[in-house]
Amino acid sequence: MSLSKAGGAPEAPCCVVTIGEIVVEIMAETPGTGFMEPLALKGPFPSGAPAIFIDQVAQLGMRCGLISAVGRDDFGTLNVTRLARDGVDVSAIQQIDSYATGSAFVRYRPDGSRDFVYNIREAACARTTLNDAARSLLGKATHFHVMGSSLFSFRIIDAVTTALREVKAQGGTVSFDPNIRKEMLDIPEMRAALELMLQECDIFLPSGPELLLFSEADTEEDAIREILALGVSEIVLKKGQDGACAFSNEGSFPMPPFPVTERDPTGAGDCFGATYVTCRLSGRSVEESLRYASASGARAVTVQGPMEGVSTFAELDRFIAQSGNPA
Ligand code: ATP
Ligand code: MG
Repeated sequence: MSLSKAGGAPEAPCCVVTIGEIVVEIMAETPGTGFMEPLALKGPFPSGAPAIFIDQVAQLGMRCGLISAVGRDDFGTLNVTRLARDGVDVSAIQQIDSYATGSAFVRYRPDGSRDFVYNIREAACARTTLNDAARSLLGKATHFHVMGSSLFSFRIIDAVTTALREVKAQGGTVSFDPNIRKEMLDIPEMRAALELMLQECDIFLPSGPELLLFSEADTEEDAIREILALGVSEIVLKKGQDGACAFSNEGSFPMPPFPVTERDPTGAGDCFGATYVTCRLSGRSVEESLRYASASGARAVTVQGPMEGVSTFAELDRFIAQSGNPA
C-alpha cells in the first residue's frame, strides 16, 4: 500500500469520501450535570464527526465529499450550506421529508466530561443509503474514511462496508477513527463491524484507550505490534492534551502538544484525523503530517463550536510559526 505515489504518469487528484451523521449541536452555556432544568443554550452549530472531518479536509484544499442525509428543515440547510461553502461536495447528501435532521444537546460537566442528549437513530442521517448520487461520488474516491461512531445502525454498517470495498477495489486507501461510543461494543454485530474496519484500514486513528479495545494485548507496545501485523500501515494515537504519536514498521514518531488554552474539546480528534490523512495523501512525511495534525487539533480546542475550529494551511502555518516548537 502506498498512500501517495511518486513519479510516473500524472494521476487524477485525490478525492476523500466519508459516510455518516450530520447533526446540529446545541450546547449549554454553563457547566453542570445534564439537562434536568431550564438552561441557557447556544446553537445550533453544524456538527457530526464525519461532517467535521470532511469540512476540515475541504479547508485544506483537497477534493472531498460526504454521503449523508438531513431533513427538510433549517438544521439540515444550515449544515449543507456550511459544508458547500467550505468546498465539500454535497451532491450525495440526501434530503428526507419524513425525518428531522439529527441533533445533539451537549453539556460539559465541571470535570470536563460531557452529558449528551442525542437524536440520531430516529433522525434523517439514519436513513442514509448508497443511492445513485452516493455511488457516483464513491466512483471518484481515492480515499475512504470510516468514523466508527457512525456505525450505529445496520443500514449504515452495510453502506459503509459496501463503500469501503468499492473504494479499495478501485485502488483507494482507507482510514479509520473508532470514535467509540461504549454502548456499541455490547452489540456483537457492531463490534464485528468495527473489527472489520480495523482489518481493512491503512491508517488507524484511535484515541487513548481505544488502542487496547481491539486487541488481546495488555500493553500499548503489544497492541501496536498486533495491529501493524494485521496490515495496517500507520497507527496514529491521539492523546488529547498529551499530544499524539505515530507508529509504523519504520518506528514511532512522538509529537508533543502545542500549548493552548482549551475552550471546547469537541471536534479536535476529527480535525486532527482529517489533517493527518490529507497531509499523507498529498505526499507529506509522517513527521510533517503529524505536526500539521497536532496544530489542527490544538487550534480546534481553542474555539467554541465543534466545526468552528477547522483550519486552512495558512492558519496552521501561522499557528506553528507563532507557537514555535511544540512543548
Ligand atoms: P474527540 O473525539 O473528542 O474529537 P479525540 O479523543 O478523538 O477527540 P483528542 O486526543 O482529544 O482526540 O485530540 C486530537 C489531537 O488534538 C491530540 O492528539 C492533540 O494533538 C490535539 N489536542 C487535543 N486537545 C489538546 C489540548 N488541550 N492541547 C493541545 N493539543 C490538543
Ligand atoms: Mg474522537
